[in-house]
Amino acid sequence: MEAVYIGLGSNLADPVQQLDAALKALAQLPKTRLVATSAYYSSAPLGPSDQPRYTNAAAYLETDLAPHFLLDQLQAIELNQGRQRKAERWGPRTLDLDILLFGQHILDDERLCVPHYHMHARPFVLLPLAELCPADFQLADGRLLADLLKHCPVDPTLQRLHTPAFCTI
Ligand code: ATP
Ligand code: MG
Ligand code: MG
Repeated sequence: MEAVYIGLGSNLADPVQQLDAALKALAQLPKTRLVATSAYYSSAPLGPSDQPRYTNAAAYLETDLAPHFLLDQLQAIELNQGRQRKAERWGPRTLDLDILLFGQHILDDERLCVPHYHMHARPFVLLPLAELCPADFQLADGRLLADLLKHCPVDPTLQRLHTPAFCTI
């Protein structure tokens, strides 16, 4: 089993309900156990600012699925929840599911970059992730999560919301 961390985000069509549904779908993936989920966070959008605030969370899975097959499954969940891919980067979306970390794998191909290429700069990714990891957590590439948190820009718009029903930590 590999330890996998997923970043979830939504800013359309009832984001809290979108994340609730996405966590349920993650829990039902084959050969996979949803071990723990973070609290939900709300923050102002990254990129174009003429869009609603985002709700974000992180999930910790244990899986026997291969990385690219897991990505296929995540993209199917996104589509199932109405995700429309548009030309505009970082535009509004019902659901975004990103693989933040996949065990000790370091991947960089046309479909998958793991650890996620921009997680170090995103408080709405790092804070929920840190809820699921020990204080001395080290990424596959050797970086310490504590260092990423220390150097990450502060987001004054970030608010911690309620904890979802699936939380087991
Ligand atoms: P960002 O990647 O900056 O968070 P985004 O999540 O909005 O932006 P998407 O439109 O969801 O981007 O995905 C674009 C492509 O990113 C996907 O088709 C996928 O192949 C690729 N990708 C690369 N690395 C990852 C990863 N770690 N998790 C999910 N998708 C990834
Ligand atoms: Mg993303
Ligand atoms: Mg994505």
